[in-house]
Amino acid sequence: MPKAYLTIDDSPSNDTHALVDFLVENKIPAILFVRGKRLEQNPKAIEYAIQNGIIIGNHSYAHIAAGDMEPQDWADDLETCEHLIEAAYRRVDIQRKAKYYRFPYIDRGDGVKLEQIDARSISQTEKIRTFQKYLHTYGFHQPFENTPPSYPSAAEDCLYTFTARDWMLNDEHRDKHDIKTTDDLIARAAADKTIQSEDHNHILLLHDQNGMTQDAIALIQYFLENNFEFLDFD
Ligand SMILES: [Zn+2]
Repeated sequence: MPKAYLTIDDSPSNDTHALVDFLVENKIPAILFVRGKRLEQNPKAIEYAIQNGIIIGNHSYAHIAAGDMEPQDWADDLETCEHLIEAAYRRVDIQRKAKYYRFPYIDRGDGVKLEQIDARSISQTEKIRTFQKYLHTYGFHQPFENTPPSYPSAAEDCLYTFTARDWMLNDEHRDKHDIKTTDDLIARAAADKTIQSEDHNHILLLHDQNGMTQDAIALIQYFLENNFEFLDFD
């Protein structure tokens, strides 16, 4: 059976509570990469996730592409989100075990939005090196094991091997892209033979945004029905 890590970006949404309940019910480990600004507006949803064993990762405060930011502004933004995450863990009195970071749009600093173009090749620019060094210095790392050979395992940020494009179903994007329904979303995943491979572990990237979280849940349900095993983060 294929093995996968589940990672979900952009939390919290109006439906985070339902998403957490679904994950707990099905014993699925997951990282929610939160946007600091949304966490500030809806702290209870993230506290509920932490209390239910979901790991919280940092997905920036303002969700601006790193390629458009100066290094100091990027670091300040990341730290603002860090403080909000730390405070959420403190409020529910649960120890945070690890620090994970995912770049908005998977723009790692070179202006390439990997999430939108499905690029598998990773470039190395001076700015990318600066950001990676910062992540390393402040204790961020990625938890994924047995990733495909093409995956840059030296990366300190969290990348992915399969992006579901489920954001096309959020309130802002629905009906503007080729994925228009839950069925389209599932059909696209079903057609991707790479995620059927049992040679290595997959890293699935889904979203939790207003209007589409139920679609993400339906897609996870599809993976369950197709015998995917969801891996723990150690
Ligand atoms: Zn995002």
